[in-house]
Amino acid sequence: METAKILVVEDEVIVARTIASQLTQLGYTVIGTASSGKVAIAKALEAKPELVLMDVILKGEMDGIDTASYIREHLDIPVIFLTAYGDDNTLERAKITQPFGYIIKPFTSKDLRIAIEIGLLKHRLERDIRENHDKLATLLNSISDAVIATDDQGLVTFMNPAAEALTGWQQKDALSTDVSKIFHLVDEVTETKLENPVTKVLREQQVVYLKEFTSLITKDGKRVPIGDSASPIMGLPNQINGVVIVFWDLSERRKTELLEQALHKEQELNNLKSLFISTVSHEFRNPLSVIQTAVELIELQGENLTEVKKNTYLRRIKIAVESMKNLMEDVLFMGKAEADKLECKPAPLNLKEFCQELIEEFTSLTTSGHEILFNCSSEATDAFMDERLLNYMLVNLLSNAVKYSLHRKTIRFDLICDQHTNLATFKIQDEGIGIPDPDQARLFESFYRASNAQSIQGTGLGLVIVKRCVEAHQGTIILNSAEGNGTTFTITLPLEVVGDR
Ligand code: ATP
Ligand code: MG
Repeated sequence: METAKILVVEDEVIVARTIASQLTQLGYTVIGTASSGKVAIAKALEAKPELVLMDVILKGEMDGIDTASYIREHLDIPVIFLTAYGDDNTLERAKITQPFGYIIKPFTSKDLRIAIEIGLLKHRLERDIRENHDKLATLLNSISDAVIATDDQGLVTFMNPAAEALTGWQQKDALSTDVSKIFHLVDEVTETKLENPVTKVLREQQVVYLKEFTSLITKDGKRVPIGDSASPIMGLPNQINGVVIVFWDLSERRKTELLEQALHKEQELNNLKSLFISTVSHEFRNPLSVIQTAVELIELQGENLTEVKKNTYLRRIKIAVESMKNLMEDVLFMGKAEADKLECKPAPLNLKEFCQELIEEFTSLTTSGHEILFNCSSEATDAFMDERLLNYMLVNLLSNAVKYSLHRKTIRFDLICDQHTNLATFKIQDEGIGIPDPDQARLFESFYRASNAQSIQGTGLGLVIVKRCVEAHQGTIILNSAEGNGTTFTITLPLEVVGDR
């Protein structure tokens, strides 16, 4: 075992020698004795003892307390005072030098040994704590994550430079301030104030994490998207001593995300454009070739063309032209809707009459033999909507109901006008092929067609346009369908739509 090196400072030579021999007997190494403060400091500097035993009263300019204070401050060597009197004044002065112990004269070897061992242990522990503290401080000051610590009342006890930079608060101004003043959080989307994580940790006594899209409001009112976690600092079990919040700036990541989203959207638009061109040209090619064939047949047969055949060819041409016209209209409509130019120009109308007339006209144009059962028991059916867009929505839904329910010919059309909620509900229900579950979520995408509809003629644009018309009316559209059993589309619109200026 290594023996501790000790310097004895005592102006009475005999006493100094006695102490030195006591120490040697106890197994310590005495590196020397000194009778004045100056000599003590010189010896301490030269021999670097691990402990100094210091008489409080010394002759000369510096007394024991001045000397101890110098040694402690400049050399970091623990000092134990030897004193004959324990008067209050001397003790108070001695305390300032943070001594590692006092030995009251006269003392035994045992007293000496206990005081030295405790002093050495205290100094070692103090050094360890200081080193740990320094390491922790360096770590906290150099990490890029921001750290704020509070006590168990939520008052700030520490902020690292990253936290100062992010919040705009200086640690010196923030210390002992309620953390909610420094760490202000809002929801990025709803802009509502969020509960302070420290309050939550103090209440729940466990780690809490921020939800996504949280912003910190800095001292000068700027908004910074951040991620964070807050953890309790536990003392005794079940006793919370404080909270530490670790947070970091997500601005750059958010910027990258936005950029990626924009790129993705552009990519999607490009794909859609290509798909649009190829689908539309493909859809045009069918009726065009019908027309071409019919014209060639008319030319080929010349004078031999019978009246019946002529009418058949002309009907084919008419149907083909009609389908091209419809497609053209859809494309034009889509173009406008895509460019967000779908104007909504509401005007007064009576919904019940409007629907009845629409059904009449629709039935007169379709030859499928479907029966549309209209029902409206609402008394007041006056509304303020865009007739053209309304017509487009309902005709599209009716056309789909007819097209996708060829084997079951009943279609129900319900209209409800609720004057309390100020809402009109249009429900169009068929008993047709229905829509498979996996396809339902994608039906409002351009050109998307359900897997069970591939053999039926269609482009996959109708519902996209319907949705745009519904949105232009600030309404909603809901789909309910079961494959093989039928489909119901429900559109809800405000009875009085606010139009575009
Ligand atoms: P078009 O552009 O000519 O209307 P489409 O009818 O295929 O073509 P949408 O009206 O947008 O396009 O409908 C998209 C898809 O939704 C259809 O292809 C079909 O799969 C499904 N669908 C729509 N309405 C019904 C319905 N009433 N019953 C079953 N499936 C339907
Ligand atoms: Mg359709």
